[in-house]
Amino acid sequence: STTVAEALDLIREIPGFPEPGILFRDLTPVFGDAAAFAAVIDALGEAVGDEVDLLAGVEARGFVLAAAVGYARGLGVALVRKPGKLPAVAGRVDYALEYGTATLELPVDSVRRGQRVAIVDDVLATGGTVAATAKLIEQAGATSTGVSVVLELGELGGRNLLGGLPVHALRTV
Ligand code: 5GP
Repeated sequence: STTVAEALDLIREIPGFPEPGILFRDLTPVFGDAAAFAAVIDALGEAVGDEVDLLAGVEARGFVLAAAVGYARGLGVALVRKPGKLPAVAGRVDYALEYGTATLELPVDSVRRGQRVAIVDDVLATGGTVAATAKLIEQAGATSTGVSVVLELGELGGRNLLGGLPVHALRTV
């Protein structure tokens, strides 16, 4: 069987994507390898902890991870979307990117008041995406319990943007 470390060693580094000077971490080989994918999903499933009622996955790779973790752990998933996709929007948060801004939207009836929601995504970079997702969860009257990611890019300082929200990274580089 494949260990988590072996699975994470499949992550590729792509220099200059999506902009010059950026080193992109490509998880494609992890998604494509059954044993590696299972190891990562099992580890994320442990990382989200037991005090959780619902997962939140961020479009698009976060959907895949959150869906698999949700199935493994018996939890539903709130699908946090890029703008313009939803027929009924419960909340919208705009946040700053390195260049420009981005928006995330929460579907109506995806998160109930009082639920404990764990965020799942592939990579924690600057933290803007997770901070925006946590804000959507709080706006819905629910609580973010933490964020579980495959990879944390430590030097970008993303966890400092999260106001103490617990970060569970399978690997920090
Ligand atoms: P942040 O908002 O933390 O700066 O960026 C996180 C979001 O951008 C995540 O949803 C993640 O999918 C994507 N992202 C940023 N950098 C990388 C990267 O190097 N590799 C991958 N796979 N995704 C990234």
